[in-house]
Amino acid sequence: MKKYYIETYGCQMNVSLSDQLQEKMNTSGFVLADSQEDADIVIINACSVREHAERKVFNRLEYLSYLKKQKGLKIVVTGCFAQNQKHNIKNADYILGTYKLSLIPEILKNGKENLINVEFDEYRFLEPVRNSTYPFQSLVDITVGCNNFCTYCIVPYLRGPQISRRSIEIIENIKRLADNGVVEIFLLGQNVNTYGKDNSDICFAELLYKIHQIDGIKRIKFLTSHPKDFNDEIIDAVFTLPKVSRWIHLPIQSGSDRILKLMNRKYDVNHYLKIVERLNSYKKEYNLSTDFLVGFPGETEQDFEETINIAKSIKFDEAFMFKYSDRPYTASATFPAKLPEEVKNKRLELLIKIQREIEKEKIKSHKNKIRDVLIESQSKRNLEDAMGRDEINKVVIIKNKKLQQGNFYKVKIVEAKGITLIGELL
Ligand code: SAM
Ligand code: SF4
Repeated sequence: MKKYYIETYGCQMNVSLSDQLQEKMNTSGFVLADSQEDADIVIINACSVREHAERKVFNRLEYLSYLKKQKGLKIVVTGCFAQNQKHNIKNADYILGTYKLSLIPEILKNGKENLINVEFDEYRFLEPVRNSTYPFQSLVDITVGCNNFCTYCIVPYLRGPQISRRSIEIIENIKRLADNGVVEIFLLGQNVNTYGKDNSDICFAELLYKIHQIDGIKRIKFLTSHPKDFNDEIIDAVFTLPKVSRWIHLPIQSGSDRILKLMNRKYDVNHYLKIVERLNSYKKEYNLSTDFLVGFPGETEQDFEETINIAKSIKFDEAFMFKYSDRPYTASATFPAKLPEEVKNKRLELLIKIQREIEKEKIKSHKNKIRDVLIESQSKRNLEDAMGRDEINKVVIIKNKKLQQGNFYKVKIVEAKGITLIGELL
């Protein structure tokens, strides 16, 4: 029996797809190896959203090429990276695009496939499985692809148009996962808010209500939302369904209307502020995180200042901050007025500094609050402590090593250290 190993780079979507692929490899007669060195086949499932991430994968491939020469390892490259870099990948046995990932076990078994296959034909979903790191959780890809064409983004070109998994299938899958001990469902898609629009299925809010009814499921999270589609029904579901985590990841990208227009985001700052107002109207705690993209072509000092101002006024609980880089196929790659690297770096550094200060200040407000913490693992810093997440997805450290992974505990937040909460069992 052939031994395989999967290396995953990139977002939660890739983690989810690798977990599903792993299950399919196992049921197709392959055996999971302990390491790359111990494997006959290494599958690289990697991301191409940012240039920096791609460089890392190319370095990795060099090492695997060395192993291939040493011991005849088979190398399969898949995901956005394969789709994008198909002609630049050396020494791979198969370069299989995003629509071909689910076929890898079959391809490896019958060996009848071209070196490169990145066709967009029929997309086949794999069955959602338990998360390989956190078996109490399942990452469920409810949509793939994206129709939005933000001008900086390569995703629509590498993952094709949005395709939603059928809701009947999602519900059946989640029931089965719940029967097997999964308590937390993490719904994934590039823009989950438009779930069901491509195939006239139920809408995202309805999907949340249906999943909420499934016995055994205790927490539901989702990623990513888009401000143009994050509507009142969805907000209402988040604040009224107790199992739905009140963690909202809503990328704003920029605080300048001019830049948002150039990005083709289809909302303005005022629309985003109205959403925040609506979130506040429920008078319940919530966690708002975002993405910022700085240094977009043509971003002036004034535009950047507007981004800083919006960060300061909204005070996001968390933010992922990126420096713009040109990506192939995208509209913005052809835009004039590209900014010098040092300007982009300086702006990113300043935004990170300001955002981190906001986070440090904001985290203090959690002190003395009572939270339901789902234990994920031991703390990375101290193996005597447990690490979990509460109902608004905040990381909480609890000084108690007896707590069980996958169980919920009522906890009082006693301290905020840096950006981490420390809790005590009630
Ligand atoms: N669909 C999600 C959304 O709309 O936010 C996630 C898209 S993307 C995979 C995640 C983040 O990467 C984006 O929010 C954006 O900030 C960043 N990103 C996308 N393209 C980029 C580029 N060309 N350069 C730098 N960052 C980029
Ligand atoms: Fe990319 Fe925009 Fe689609 Fe997100 S919504 S994946 S940023 S095109």
